[in-house]
Amino acid sequence: MKRITKPLLVKQSTIAAAGLGVFAAKQFRKGEIIGEYTGEVVLEDEAFEKHAESEMDYLFDLGNGYVIDPANDSNPIKYINHSCNPNCESDQDGERIFIHAIRTIKSGEELFYDYSLEPGDDDEDRYTCMCGAENCTGTLKEN
Ligand SMILES: [Zn+2]
Repeated sequence: MKRITKPLLVKQSTIAAAGLGVFAAKQFRKGEIIGEYTGEVVLEDEAFEKHAESEMDYLFDLGNGYVIDPANDSNPIKYINHSCNPNCESDQDGERIFIHAIRTIKSGEELFYDYSLEPGDDDEDRYTCMCGAENCTGTLKEN
């Protein structure tokens, strides 16, 4: 599997509550692939057993009972935060997830995509959005 590596920077997010975030270290053009969400493809149930709740935010749901678990992967893509006014989008190609720019992104800008999480999960507090965008829906879930 070919790994896409692009100049990205991981540091404290511009969203105070979000922890780490990912920043562009060069300009990305609209449509350009920023990277792949890499990790181990594992059964959702297995991943849930293995991880503490705080680590679950990094699991990428593939929608077929499997998730991508990036725990043992140094790829910075997993640190990209959610925003209701994102500059990136995720694309699913089978069991692979790619993140691409949906507009021109300048070097130094923080990267975001809309997580659009499945509704219906138990602990609502974990899904509160604090992105601060004008159109913020207040949730990381799909509306
Ligand atoms: Zn928001």
